[in-house]
Amino acid sequence: MSLAQNIARVQQQIAEQAQACGRNPNDVTLVAVSKFQDVAHIEEAYACGLRDFGESYTQEWKVKAQQLAHLPDIRWHLIGHLQKNKVKDLNDRLFCLQSLDSLALAIEIEKKARFAKKLPVLVQLQIDPNDANKSGIPYADASALCDFVCSSQNLELHGFMGIGPLDKPHELKTLYERFFAEGNTLWQQRQRSMQTNKCVFSLGMSEDMSTAIACGSTMVRVGRAIFGERRRAH
Ligand SMILES: *Cc1c(COP(=O)(O)O)cnc(C)c1O
Repeated sequence: MSLAQNIARVQQQIAEQAQACGRNPNDVTLVAVSKFQDVAHIEEAYACGLRDFGESYTQEWKVKAQQLAHLPDIRWHLIGHLQKNKVKDLNDRLFCLQSLDSLALAIEIEKKARFAKKLPVLVQLQIDPNDANKSGIPYADASALCDFVCSSQNLELHGFMGIGPLDKPHELKTLYERFFAEGNTLWQQRQRSMQTNKCVFSLGMSEDMSTAIACGSTMVRVGRAIFGERRRAH
């Protein structure tokens, strides 16, 4: 299968699942996860019409963003855990930080980063309370983090991100429903201070895309179903 065929197939799956759930397919954004893919493949996906790309590692993202600077309307999303000592690598080329997962990280960005305008962020919520390895802030701590972002000079809250425990397929739906319930509550409590009334819910990867869309996802992050298996493991 060619890259173009993979993209068309994923877009069709998204559209069909959205329609099957009575949702507007345009309400689900496809982010192509390009970690470990070379820039030639990213350019090819861009030529197919994709604009949103997700990277996990700041170093790798920075190099690629520099190499692809001639694509002015490309939208880069950072989706991997960001260590505090990497905050200095953030710059205006970033469209959205999806993995804001602690108050300490938000405070560091507030102190160290300098952006031309506020950086859109998603607060990454810990979906599986029994698996702290999957990064994300516990629901109980998310409120304070959202408050900090809403009063920040550098950050702007755009919604929530989650990584599902793919090894627990039978629990996904229940865990995802909780993710949307908690996210919606956090969002509505701050609605008045928000620039936008649309809350982004970034949830779903190659394997759980359909479940995520059925539960309400507005943004899926798809790597392997578009680019094939990654050459390097992470
Ligand atoms: C790698 C990654 C993805 C994409 O996963 P695939 O299984 O390749 O679709 C999505 N989200 C995050 C946070 C990732 O690290």
